Amino acid sequence: MPELPEVETVRRSLQPFLIGHRIVEVTRIAWPSTIAEPSPEEFSARLRDREIVAIDRRAKYLIIHLDQDEALVVHLRMTGQLTVVEAEAEPDKHTHVVLRLDTGQQMFYRDTRKFGRMWLLDREGLAALDRKLGPEPLDDTLTAEAFRALIRRRKGRLKQLLLDQAVIAGLGNIYVDEALWLAQLHPLATVGMISDEQIDALYAAIREVLASGIDKRGTTFSNYRDALGAKGSNQNYLNVYNRANQPCLRCGSPIEKIVVVQRGTHICAYCQPLGSSQEGES
Ligand SMILES: [Zn+2]
Repeated sequence: MPELPEVETVRRSLQPFLIGHRIVEVTRIAWPSTIAEPSPEEFSARLRDREIVAIDRRAKYLIIHLDQDEALVVHLRMTGQLTVVEAEAEPDKHTHVVLRLDTGQQMFYRDTRKFGRMWLLDREGLAALDRKLGPEPLDDTLTAEAFRALIRRRKGRLKQLLLDQAVIAGLGNIYVDEALWLAQLHPLATVGMISDEQIDALYAAIREVLASGIDKRGTTFSNYRDALGAKGSNQNYLNVYNRANQPCLRCGSPIEKIVVVQRGTHICAYCQPLGSSQEGES
C-alpha cells in the first residue's frame, strides 16, 4: 500500500506532465465507485477543460490543484496507480478512470483491488480534509519538541499510534516497522513506558526512513508504480519489513513477524525489547 514516500514520488513524477497543462475531459469512468465526490456525472462535467496549477501531497492524498480553487484529490489505497501514458495507449480492465490532457497524453487511474478513491473538492472540502489529518512528519514545523508533545498527549501502543493518520500523517505498515526498528522500540510499547530520549529517537527514525524511502523512489513489492510506471527501489534497502526469519542487520538475531493491530509486524526481539515492566501484558 502506498505510504508517504510512494505518494510523494508519484507527486514529483506527475509534475512535469501536468503543471500548466489542462485536463481536456474525462474519457472513461469504468468503476463509478472510484469517484467518491461528487457524482461521477458531475465529476466528468466539472473536469472539462480545467487547468492544473500545482500538485501537493497531504498524508497519503495526492492533491492536484485546479483553476477556480478546486482540487482533484486521489487516494491510491492498496493498489491504485496514477500514470501518464501516450495518446494511443489503451486502458485495460483495471483502468477505472481516464483523463485526456491538452498534450494529447492521457492520465490513467488503474486499481486492481478498487479501494482507491477520487474527490473533486473546493477550498472548504480541502480544509476539512486537512483538519482530519495529523502533522506532516517531514514538515519543518514538526520539531522534535512538537513531536514529543504530540506523542505525550496520547495513550496506547506505539504501532497503533503511528498508523493513526490523525496523530501523524502518511505512515503505514512498512515505514512504521522500519522506524520502530531504527529507534529500537517495540511496536507494543506504550507511550507511558518510553522516555523522552526514546521519543526523540523515534522522531529522528521516522524522518530518516521516510526521507530514505523518497530518495529510493518508494517501496515496490507488487503494485506500486510512479507516474511513468516505474518501480521504486526502497524494497532493496529495508532493515526489517518483509524480512521474517532473516538475520537482523544490527545484531544477527532472526527477524520475527508478529501481529499488532491486525497488521503483520516485523521486529527484532533482541534490538526492540518490550521491557520487563510489560511482560505478560497482551
Ligand atoms: Zn537486532
